[in-house]
Amino acid sequence: MTNYYMPTKIVGGENALVDNAPLLGGLGKKALIVTGRSSAKKNGSLDDVIRALEANGQVYALFDRVTANPTIAGVFEAAELARREACDFVVAVGGGSSMDTGKAVAAIAVNSLSARALFTTPFDKALPVAAVPTTAGTGSEVTQYAILNNDAIQSKSSLSSPLLFPRVAFLDARYILSLSRNTLINTALDALSHAVEGMLGARASAFTDAAAKSGIRAFAECLSALRSGRIDDPAVREKLLFAATLDGTVIANTGTIAVHALGYSLTYFRHIDHGRANGLLLGAYLRFVQRKEKASGANRVGEILAALGMDSLDEFDVVIDGLLGEREKFTDAEIEQYAGIALQAKHIANSAVRPDKADLLEVLARSLGG
Ligand code: NAP
Ligand code: ZN
Repeated sequence: MTNYYMPTKIVGGENALVDNAPLLGGLGKKALIVTGRSSAKKNGSLDDVIRALEANGQVYALFDRVTANPTIAGVFEAAELARREACDFVVAVGGGSSMDTGKAVAAIAVNSLSARALFTTPFDKALPVAAVPTTAGTGSEVTQYAILNNDAIQSKSSLSSPLLFPRVAFLDARYILSLSRNTLINTALDALSHAVEGMLGARASAFTDAAAKSGIRAFAECLSALRSGRIDDPAVREKLLFAATLDGTVIANTGTIAVHALGYSLTYFRHIDHGRANGLLLGAYLRFVQRKEKASGANRVGEILAALGMDSLDEFDVVIDGLLGEREKFTDAEIEQYAGIALQAKHIANSAVRPDKADLLEVLARSLGG
């Protein structure tokens, strides 16, 4: 047996926010609502947050300028608003970018953290955060990470602290109805990647395996909806959101591995969506692990395929390619650069089968070579 930690209260179902408004009541007097420019206004989530706060007699300020792949400058701007408005808690509503921005604000607003040393300065307090996911992918609503672009290393870095676990996550699958087919697929691939990486991570345990396999099975059950981009069936959209959050509980305990480290370069340099970046790399990474497992006798790839209901990695590739469509092509120089950057990341040591530079080059070339 090993440890498993998940302090976030999860409240799910239609109308979860308004029906459970008192759960926000104890978090503070004035919220900073953190969200993106438009989607939360259209999918009803922002209105629901405001209704819930008003029902509790709580006031709020609004930061609605979160951009995809949040930057350090962006989170400092939002934290400045939190300070100016004397907000004492955060409600983050949107995809991973909004939730990560909200969590970073929770730390920056009440500690003396500098932009330059943001990822290396310890902090001992944070504002309470409530999270409302409107994509079904990152699981940020149940993790202790806020992942930001970090120009100093030309990649993404994570602000990580148990203080950043949201106190409460509201899961209402109606919000994801408005996702485009592309974002639906990309975020589902991110969730799948979290489950797979959790199983292939050095910190995998019986607890995380059980959750990861359940998340992987749920992904497989939603494949036809993902292919069509239609999630009209409430049971399907609830399953996608359930899987994403469950897979978030996995990485809260295991962290992510080399796939995420490589994927960060695809996003940082080529602006490929985070989930798509992972999806592009997963098949080749699984092949690398399978090759190593032939020597060690382990069979984690077989366990992952079994949870997917698939017989082989060839079948896996066909399914993932069907979701991804045409792949981006990278030059040898790009591949060399990205492998070099990923090799520096802590994700490498966190991979149960540890790839070396040649392995990373092979994964990138197989996934994206010209
Ligand atoms: P995102 O960057 O949050 O959002 C992508 C796009 O989807 C935005 O244009 C957003 O619009 C739109 N959108 C969000 N919800 C929508 C909805 N219901 N209907 C229509 N459009 C919607 O995408 P994401 O994949 O959820 O998050 C990716 C980020 O999360 C990356 O920065 C990644 O590094 C991070 N991440 C964090 C963790 C963690 O544990 N903290 C784990 C994995 C990934 P608006 O801008 O208008 O809202
Ligand atoms: Zn991810």
